[in-house]
Amino acid sequence: MNKAFPQVAILGRTNSGKSTLFNRLSETHQAIISPLVNTTRDRNFSDIAWQGKMFTLVDTGGLDSAVTDELGKEIQKQVMLAVKDADVILFLIDGATGILPQDKQLALLVKKINKPTILGINKIDNQKKEKNIDPDFHKLNFSHVAKFSALNGSQTGDLLDLIIKLLPAKHQTLAPKPYTLKLAIIGRPNVGKSSLINAILGEERVIVSKIAHTTRDINDVNFIYKNKHFTLIDTAGIRRKSRVGEWHNKLLGKIEKEGVQATLNTMDKADVVILVLETQSRISAQDQILVQLALEHQKNMILVLNKWDLIEEKEPLTVEKFIEYFHAHLPFAKHVPMIFVSALKKQRVHKILDLALEVEAESKKQISDEELADLLNSIMKKYRPRQKQTVTFGQEKKPLKLHSLKQIRVNPPLFYIRMNKPQNMPTAIKKIIEKEIRERYEFLGVPVKITVGK
Ligand code: GDP
Repeated sequence: MNKAFPQVAILGRTNSGKSTLFNRLSETHQAIISPLVNTTRDRNFSDIAWQGKMFTLVDTGGLDSAVTDELGKEIQKQVMLAVKDADVILFLIDGATGILPQDKQLALLVKKINKPTILGINKIDNQKKEKNIDPDFHKLNFSHVAKFSALNGSQTGDLLDLIIKLLPAKHQTLAPKPYTLKLAIIGRPNVGKSSLINAILGEERVIVSKIAHTTRDINDVNFIYKNKHFTLIDTAGIRRKSRVGEWHNKLLGKIEKEGVQATLNTMDKADVVILVLETQSRISAQDQILVQLALEHQKNMILVLNKWDLIEEKEPLTVEKFIEYFHAHLPFAKHVPMIFVSALKKQRVHKILDLALEVEAESKKQISDEELADLLNSIMKKYRPRQKQTVTFGQEKKPLKLHSLKQIRVNPPLFYIRMNKPQNMPTAIKKIIEKEIRERYEFLGVPVKITVGK
């Protein structure tokens, strides 16, 4: 096995609680691994993060059925195999039943292995049980001892501290920064942002509250959806009604600076901005400003039309009519996908997350030079069929020569046009090129920027 992190193997006889401990530590402290770090994940292996350090916990479950009164050669072989790659051994005994002969035999074997070992006394669920621990455990003579309850998790933090202490220094790897898709939910007051957050988090989502190896803003909420990690940014800011309320009442053009600044700060941290509007009311100037701000800040974006339940008598064409209406009022955001939801009825709420994943993937797309050369060629033919490699537009007298088109950055994508007169490039031509790029490659919800040079 390729060892990405140092290994800690749990050993112990049947019923000592190996699987319970393995599950407890995996469930609460399993590391979020960046998709780039390729580690083996298996039922019996779990990458654990604790205090910024990583290790792989190994459950040597295979021993269970085999351990008998007599530790035969076969079992010894199995134990050796299980701990071959281990850097630390966690030798588990059942603190409730006391020390059994098998424990003593296993203990002798573990000592022979000569690796750092922790004697783990499990099933210490409360103080009473701690008082009743079999004093004979001292006779096993291990220098590192931890008492805990795998079942209720008590004192497992101390156990993890001890494990970290015993891990070989040369192996200690700082936990990789986990990859998480950061979402900012913005919108004017009362469109249903808080309700939407509750609906998103309230469903079957696992909220990852304890991510031991990262420092995070307490206002961020982390959760998992379809095995992907998401972070909702600044949820407290959204829920803080009073301040947003003030902002709401300001006249257009005099929007309270602090409110806008807070929205911008939240937006800037996000990978995808989720702008919430109400389906049942007309688009307001504030909505338009928010869309414009997100576009100016080159953000990936989704428009969420909430309160869909308030629209009565929906017909097959209702959605199209709404899209038409929104496009007419937000003409600069036609590339932004729209989704009609009801936070109240929890309708299509999870689709927002699917869409966010899609938009994020779109923003990381890289189009090859060859494909773009082909696209430029077809643009030339389309707009100036008779004179190859030249484009004229409007008042511009001299023909413009567009030499090449390349994508020089992803997320957000930036395209570079090499041409003869960059200073004279009409915006309209840039717009045409953007339109053609989108027609072929879509870039759903993603800002596409075009720059020119010689
Ligand atoms: P926020 O200010 O954007 O966070 O908005 P809230 O989430 O506090 O919602 C404002 C009001 O709209 C509340 O009375 C919600 O119950 C209501 N609301 C939110 N989402 C929906 C929805 O999908 N349908 C309906 N009918 N009402 C909603």
